[in-house]
Amino acid sequence: RTAIALLTRDLRVRDNPALALACADAERVVPLFVRDPTVPAGANRWRFLDGCLADLRDSLRARGGDLIIRRGDPVAQALRLAGEVGATKITIAGDVSGFARRRERRLAEECETHRVALVVTPGVTVIPPGALTPSGGGASYRVFTPYWRAWSAATWRDPSPTPRRITLPPGLDPGDLPPPPPSAGRGAVGGEAAARRTLRAFLPHLPEYADEHDIPASPGTSRLSPYLRFGCLSPRELAGLAGGSAEFVRQLCWRDFFYQVAAAFPRIRTEPLRSGGDVWRVDDDAFEAWRAGLTGVPIVDAGMRQLAAEGWMHNRVRMITASFLTKHLGLDWRRGAGVFFDLLLDGDVPNNYGNWQWVAGVGNDTKPYRRFNPVRQAHRFDPSGDYVRRYVPELSAVDGGAVHEPWRLPGLRYPAPLRGPSPAAWLPD
Ligand code: FAD
Repeated sequence: RTAIALLTRDLRVRDNPALALACADAERVVPLFVRDPTVPAGANRWRFLDGCLADLRDSLRARGGDLIIRRGDPVAQALRLAGEVGATKITIAGDVSGFARRRERRLAEECETHRVALVVTPGVTVIPPGALTPSGGGASYRVFTPYWRAWSAATWRDPSPTPRRITLPPGLDPGDLPPPPPSAGRGAVGGEAAARRTLRAFLPHLPEYADEHDIPASPGTSRLSPYLRFGCLSPRELAGLAGGSAEFVRQLCWRDFFYQVAAAFPRIRTEPLRSGGDVWRVDDDAFEAWRAGLTGVPIVDAGMRQLAAEGWMHNRVRMITASFLTKHLGLDWRRGAGVFFDLLLDGDVPNNYGNWQWVAGVGNDTKPYRRFNPVRQAHRFDPSGDYVRRYVPELSAVDGGAVHEPWRLPGLRYPAPLRGPSPAAWLPD
């Protein structure tokens, strides 16, 4: 018997339910990845993905198999390959974005037509979306705290065994991978091996996570998000390893939370989860200044420049920059979310749009009126100013926390801060 493991964003050999299941009851297994040019992703994410694929191919080759790469529509390619090799089963990890669900629905239809069994496995989250539902009714939790309570009490699936040997059907063309990019710049490199290196480097710092994770200048967070995004690391395994830090595990629960929200609200990218308050200004100059990191508010500018340089931004600064765009400048969260989604290595629909809606006050925040004062936030979370100086070289000569208020420093050439429309919006003293 032959099975195809159609890998999408579970690009690992360890604790990979779709791959393990394909290997469990077939003599020949085709681990398949289809490069779908219609997937919405910026150049950063495509580059990271290439690293993931090269690394996965190495791992599978070391086990006697290979990663078979095709290009085009994953459904058509998977069924064509099933015909070529006589596969009777396709396994795939269930996913929640509208795009992924349409793909899964079409795959189910085609598999039925061609009499191929389709098995949709977990693997993208710790607890599968939809597995926990509120006792009061409804398809998903809309508030985090009760979800966290239910999530903490839930039983996890057993870990999936790592395949030792993989036997491919004979004569398969493995398909090409693009050559590695000349320079990865400051961004992370994709792949399970890099994920495990990042994990090993982070685990000794886990005990300090609760104190350090809100300080953007410190290496206090794991930087595992791109690896979780592409499934180079199993979230279930990570949650198990990090069990000693409730604060860290809680962040993984936030990730699951937004997945189950997105599963219940497929239009999360465009429609607010909460009714009311979804009214925004149009001001292209302000938007472009925000995007370029030239708002005149150093913590906001530093964040946007970190995003451009590394394809990643610290969570605290994501909140500050997103709040500045929506609640200070009064601009539409969808536009800001689009910029993040394009540049972030970890950019995914549930977390990006779920968090943007949360910050903009149209989503799952129980305090939608919350407004971050960027200057107060900057002094509190970057008291030394080190984070800002790292990304804003124009301010590198300014010492300490004074860097957060360049308008107070005579003779400095830095843009004046952009002002928002609302009288309650933050203004410099
Ligand atoms: P750590 O602090 O080490 O946390 C461990 C893991 O927990 C993360 O890798 C991530 O998977 C998860 N996590 C942490 N915080 C959150 C959170 N608030 N929501 C959901 N999961 C979380 N995260 C994404 O993975 N993709 C996105 O597209 C994304 N967009 C965001 C947009 C905005 C406006 C905001 C405010 C947050 C966004 N986040 C997103 C959440 C968070 O900022 C990142 O997950 C985190 O910064 C990743 O860094 P880390 O791996 O070092 O996190």
